Amino acid sequence: MKIAVFPGSFDPITKGHADIVKRAIPMFDKIIVAMGVNSEKKYFFNTKQRLSFIEAAFEDYPTVEVDTYNKLTAFYCKDKGANFLLRGLRNSTDFNYENTIANLNATIGEDLETVFLMAKSEFSCYSSTVVREILKGGGDASIFLPEKIIALI
Ligand code: ADP
Repeated sequence: MKIAVFPGSFDPITKGHADIVKRAIPMFDKIIVAMGVNSEKKYFFNTKQRLSFIEAAFEDYPTVEVDTYNKLTAFYCKDKGANFLLRGLRNSTDFNYENTIANLNATIGEDLETVFLMAKSEFSCYSSTVVREILKGGGDASIFLPEKIIALI
C-alpha cells in the first residue's frame, strides 16, 4: 500500500495546500494530511479550528485522512507505515528550505522518499501567512480558501 503523509502547520489550510493533495490522490492509495501540533509554536488558529478546516476541505475524498502529530515527521511516517512525504513547491525559497528538510528526512527516516509537486501558477502566491495578514486586518480572504471552509472562518 502506497501511503503518503502531507505534513504542515495549515494555519489555516489554503487552496494551494488542497490543490497539492488533490493532484496527488491518483499517485497514492492513501494520503494522510498531518497537522503539526507544537506546544512551543504560536498559531493564529487553535488546534481544533485548524483541524476542522482540514477535515471540511477533504470530506469528499475517501482516500484522504486527517490527523495531528507532535513528533519528528520521519518518526510519525514510520508509525503510520508511510514511505512517502508529500510537499508543495512554490518558488526557490521553498526549494532551499525543502531541500534541507528532504535530506534530513531521508537520513533519519529509512526508505522515506519526499515527493514534490510544483504549485500551480494561480496558487503560487497563496500562503497561510497572506491569509492570516488579511484576516488580522479585517479583510476578506475567501479567494485563498477552499470553498468548504469559507463559512467556518
Ligand atoms: P510548514 O509550516 O511546514 O511550512 P505549511 O502549512 O506552510 O507548512 O505548508 C505545508 C506544505 O504545503 C509545504 O510543502 C508548502 O510548500 C506547501 N504549500 C504551501 N502553500 C502552497 C501553495 N500555495 N501551493 C502549493 N504548495 C503550498
